[in-house]
Amino acid sequence: MAEYDYDVLVIGAGPGGYVAAIRAAQLGLKTACAEGRETLGGTCLNVGCIPSKAMLHASEYFDAAANGAMAKMGIKVTPELDLDTMHAQRRDAVKGLTGGIEFLFKKNKIDWIKGYASFQDAHTVKVGDKSVTAKNVVIATGSTVTPLPGIEIDNDKGVVVDSTGALELKAVPKKMVVIGGGVIGLELGSVWRRLGADVTVVEFLDQLLPGMDGEVRKESGKIFKKQGMVLKLSTKVTGAAVAGDKATVTVEPAAGGAAETLEADVVLVSIGRRANTEGLGLDKIGLELNQRGQIETDHDFATKVDGVWAIGDVIPGPMLAHKAEDEGIAVAENIAGLTGIVNHDVIPGVVYTAPEFAGVGLTEEQAKERGAIKVGKFPMLANSRAKTNHEPDGFVKIIADAETDRVLGVWCIATVAGTMIAQAAQAMEFGATSEDIAYTCHAHPTHSEAIKEAAMAVTGKPIHV
Ligand code: FAD
Ligand code: NAD
Repeated sequence: MAEYDYDVLVIGAGPGGYVAAIRAAQLGLKTACAEGRETLGGTCLNVGCIPSKAMLHASEYFDAAANGAMAKMGIKVTPELDLDTMHAQRRDAVKGLTGGIEFLFKKNKIDWIKGYASFQDAHTVKVGDKSVTAKNVVIATGSTVTPLPGIEIDNDKGVVVDSTGALELKAVPKKMVVIGGGVIGLELGSVWRRLGADVTVVEFLDQLLPGMDGEVRKESGKIFKKQGMVLKLSTKVTGAAVAGDKATVTVEPAAGGAAETLEADVVLVSIGRRANTEGLGLDKIGLELNQRGQIETDHDFATKVDGVWAIGDVIPGPMLAHKAEDEGIAVAENIAGLTGIVNHDVIPGVVYTAPEFAGVGLTEEQAKERGAIKVGKFPMLANSRAKTNHEPDGFVKIIADAETDRVLGVWCIATVAGTMIAQAAQAMEFGATSEDIAYTCHAHPTHSEAIKEAAMAVTGKPIHV
């Protein structure tokens, strides 16, 4: 029988990879993790979820002080932006959390093999000048930004940037053009809009936030417009020219038509992300990619190659940290001979703007395609806590099967929608009906009561509207 250096070698230490490594070690497997970055935590902790939330949180305070929201509550302040300090607290958050993963690796006796890994064969991986063997190899190499042909990203120059560059801007741009009205464009566009930039979002489709419920997408457009963003929907970018520290972006209607130009100090390219497989040497193990450049797996996260597994952004499904984490736990459990399962029908998604946009399960459009449904809606304006906090925007919408009443999807727009959606995901995981939610006691006064009321509205009986 072959002898290996490790039971499990994980390639990539993002939320998929580091969680897989920790779970594997907890299960008694000898585990290593290859990571080429200087710090652990992957995209999420270094240049994704965490730093973007640090900037969203700080800029929300600035905005509340600047736009009169605090004055409304009797707090008169004139904010002064200290961008260096705002960036420093973001870097601190990243440092603390990435260092925390390093601590967890040590605690669980996981070897961090520093460098980029490449397969030699299915059980042998080269990391730098080291060769490592493992009985099981988990590919968790994540994703990188999708480039827009003809538009060169230069984060150091800071004029045409991707999300990593947009987190690091040294000054608030006067004019910012965001290409792509998806999650990154709206979150990072919101950060710089709040700090004083004029932000124009150019989106190819006729609505923002593809993948979310139609009504939520429509409402998001109204809300971001009200906040001062200029939205150019059904519009495509055909080029961008940089001269000195300015850019000129050329756009035209998605369906074709007259072109126009937009001037900007900063252009953010946020048109999606693609699986990271370059340099992995997949040809050496005969592993082919699907049409979208992703690695396909079965339900257990096993690839077609014996002993090689894959999880996270590099495989199909939503590119979300918590999806990658759950897959990390499941793959380690499967490798250990347990049963690791991820229910891909119940993966919540959240856009962390103000208000937040969150959803889990089917959109109303998807649910209708599958059969008869009932829908209950409740406006945040009628929720006592949201009203008291001066947070009138948004609603909760619950979609249930017309016959069984089983909840198929829940959508929220509310200041704390990202927190509220957890109870919806849990209810759906337990196979709840809308009646189950309606008869669950919710604390008062909380935004979450809107979920109970929306559930009551499924059968037409909310109390507060
Ligand atoms: P990654 O986090 O991308 O990690 C992969 C790691 O593998 C990287 O560190 C990379 O250096 C390493 N690697 C790649 N190739 C090799 C190799 N050959 N050898 C060794 N190492 C290698 N998701 C959310 O759920 N919530 C959010 O709020 C959120 N915000 C985001 C904000 C931004 C700006 C961005 C860009 C993304 C955000 N995401 C968010 C998405 C989230 O970051 C990803 O879904 C998540 O990081 C995917 O985890 P992963 O482990 O699959 O891959
Ligand atoms: P996205 O897929 O969310 O949005 C990209 C948008 O760009 C789409 O609306 C698309 O129609 C548009 N687009 C594509 N080509 C275009 C063009 N030529 N001109 C104009 N518009 C164009 O992608 P993203 O915002 O780059 O985010 C990437 C991934 O990162 C997402 O899958 C998301 O799941 C993840 N992410 C998640 C969070 C979160 O969970 N809060 C935050 C940030 C990123």
